Amino acid sequence: MPSSMPCVRPKFDRKWAEMPQNRTAIVAGAGVAGLTTAIALRRSGFDVTVYERAEGMRSGGFGLSVMSNAVAALDSLGIDLDLEQRGRALERYYVKDSRGKLIREFPFPEIIARLGVPSVCIGRGDLLATLRDQEPDLPVVFGAAAERFEVSGDRVRLYLAEGREVEADVLIGADGFHSAIRRQLNGPEEGWRESGYIVWLGITDYAHPRFEPGSVVHFWGDGKRFGLVDIGHGRLYWWATENMPLARAQEWSGGRADLLDRYRGWAEEVVEAIRITPEDSLTSVITRDRPFIDRWGSGPVTLVGDAAHPMLTSLGQGAAMAIEDAAILAEQIGGADDISSALRAYEDGRRDRTRAVVEATRAISDFEQSQGPVRRRFRDAYFRLMPHRALVARLEPALTFPGHMTPGRTVRGGTSDTPSAIVEG
Ligand SMILES: Cc1cc2nc3c(=O)[nH]c(=O)nc-3n(C[C@H](O)[C@H](O)[C@H](O)COP(=O)(O)OP(=O)(O)OC[C@H]3O[C@@H](n4cnc5c(N)ncnc54)[C@H](O)[C@@H]3O)c2cc1C
Repeated sequence: MPSSMPCVRPKFDRKWAEMPQNRTAIVAGAGVAGLTTAIALRRSGFDVTVYERAEGMRSGGFGLSVMSNAVAALDSLGIDLDLEQRGRALERYYVKDSRGKLIREFPFPEIIARLGVPSVCIGRGDLLATLRDQEPDLPVVFGAAAERFEVSGDRVRLYLAEGREVEADVLIGADGFHSAIRRQLNGPEEGWRESGYIVWLGITDYAHPRFEPGSVVHFWGDGKRFGLVDIGHGRLYWWATENMPLARAQEWSGGRADLLDRYRGWAEEVVEAIRITPEDSLTSVITRDRPFIDRWGSGPVTLVGDAAHPMLTSLGQGAAMAIEDAAILAEQIGGADDISSALRAYEDGRRDRTRAVVEATRAISDFEQSQGPVRRRFRDAYFRLMPHRALVARLEPALTFPGHMTPGRTVRGGTSDTPSAIVEG
């Protein structure tokens, strides 16, 4: 964390010697949620082992933004990922129409400056590798799918595929959207809500005279969008969406030629991004969320990340919420003598915020995908005409890690004198 980032107020500062010792934790899943939680628990004095279904660490993948609230949460755990060196700090954020005409410049840089904590865009594999580097000797057992657990007194036993069993004082379900731990806690799948559109993802070396370094640029069309994201080191991560029934989205196998066809006539920097992306660096995904669940745990078991609160992608906050979960979990459990009570306190502390972000993401996602001339014009005009103050007030809460950030302090490159009323508005 740069020394010019004084706004994070660590809450978790109990000395190692004061922490209860010899406690053990099992984390199911080695994604962003699992790795961050494992590091946090280790630093809280737990002996942690991560069990991951996949055969190895995910190395490739596409990009993502680690927004200021997530960077602040990492900092509160004493984790400095040096993200700005590994990815690219977000410096400007534009929303344009499909031909490249500006709809609105979003005030993320202003908010980020006032909060004093950067937001960084980075390759997903790089983020995971960076987390892993924090605790190189953290045991991660691959090819170990969690199937079910059994609580007995204060202890929990996890049953893994192929008949293996492990036992600990705590079990954290960080096993993503289709979490086995969640399924056991909440009964059969509660159902999920599809986004209503397909998402294509690409990653490539890229430079374009109309694409400024440090930019995130969204292009909004008719039931279609395209995003260009600078992830640093001359690399671009892009995503594209199009409203599409699920069955057709699942069958899509079109490749680059099909995408060039679908985005013909869009801004030249969009077409260029598709044109130069190697065919094997391009894929499609189906995005979905779930109706929010209130029950995240029982006894010594709880959930973090997508296992607890999967969300759509419009606010770029899924991984950030997972990182916040890990920070609050560590805060609650770090010095606690009663683990179950600490886990319930963690869940109580996270429910309202994550529910709000899940629902806000769903609402903004539906609005952004507006289709038809009337809805589309309304969407563009809505954002073009929204008062600056109102836009800031809408964007800022997600970027603020509650209770841990004090806006208005010195930041890299100077001080912000923006009235704090905007923050509160
Ligand atoms: C297209 C797209 C763009 C996104 N962009 C952003 C963004 O810009 N910013 C942001 O913050 N978020 C973003 N997100 C959301 C973010 O990717 C997720 O919220 C985040 O990855 C969730 O992390 P997780 O560790 O909870 O789950 P996952 O990343 O799904 O990790 C779960 C892990 O558990 C493992 N696992 C699964 N089942 C088991 C089992 N039974 N036993 C053991 N292991 C198991 C999996 O193999 C996986 O490694 C985006 C998502 C998508 C799809």
